[in-house]
Amino acid sequence: MGRVQNKIALITGGSRGIGLATARLLASEGATVIITDILVDEGKSVADSIRGKFYALNVGNEHEWQGVIRAVGKEFGKLDILFNNAGIIGFSQKLGPQDPENISLKAWQYVHKINLDGAFLGCKYGISLMKDQGGSIINMSSRSGIVGIPGASAYASSKAAIRNHTKSVALYCAENGYNIRCNSLHPGAILTPLWDPMLGNTESERQEMITTISSTIPLGHMGEPMDVAYAVLYLGSEESKYITGIELTIDGGILAGSSASPKKHSSCKG
Ligand code: NAP
Repeated sequence: MGRVQNKIALITGGSRGIGLATARLLASEGATVIITDILVDEGKSVADSIRGKFYALNVGNEHEWQGVIRAVGKEFGKLDILFNNAGIIGFSQKLGPQDPENISLKAWQYVHKINLDGAFLGCKYGISLMKDQGGSIINMSSRSGIVGIPGASAYASSKAAIRNHTKSVALYCAENGYNIRCNSLHPGAILTPLWDPMLGNTESERQEMITTISSTIPLGHMGEPMDVAYAVLYLGSEESKYITGIELTIDGGILAGSSASPKKHSSCKG
């Protein structure tokens, strides 16, 4: 038996990157996977390849969420796993500077609309479909939801709010006896298309940037989408049935310490 056999799983932003890897893994472990995304052609072909389902869904649009949840309820009668994964930094969308001094109100609100409103709407409508039979909601935060990111301040703020909202959802569902667990993921430096705008314009620039970033990661390399997909598999399965309201860091050790920590010198005694 697969680890999520016969479960119905919905993934937002499932057409590429972490969402795509997770869709493939959950399907290989027995789930029926519903992929949603704004990238329609890519999403449809992924869904076909795993015998899943695709719905176009802009996570910031409440009306579209209502339609997707209604359709899933009608077709499957339940939802077991909801991975609120879709998110943007704001660089690809050409929203202008993202630092606290120069970011526009419009850009700030847009990033929050997709990241935070998207996760909020997913939880709100996910609860409505899950509350009779129970389920697992996994919200995509980031290491940036735990520490400040000067050059991507709206992203960091939105991810911090997702981290907190996850705990409110977890406690609310527990209080109401819904048997819905809700946890947040905090990846750092996972090599996906999200990074493309930050890795230069040529292959050699890209390799140079990846080497530079890797040198700041305790494990010495960037993560891959499957590193996060396995965490979703665990939190979506019954193996994690006693786990709710946690934040799971997947970052090669970045958040374990500080680069400003004192180094041990051979001249130091004791
Ligand atoms: P990705 O490769 O850019 O994939 C994200 C997917 O979400 C894309 O298909 C994207 O479509 C889609 N999307 C964007 N806006 C959407 C919207 N409004 N509604 C629905 N779908 C939308 O990114 P990723 O690296 O896999 O990241 C997935 C999640 O992990 C994000 O929430 C990100 O913040 C988080 N995360 C990533 C890392 C990392 O290092 N990669 C670290 C921490 C957290 P388009 O291509 O059209 O935008």
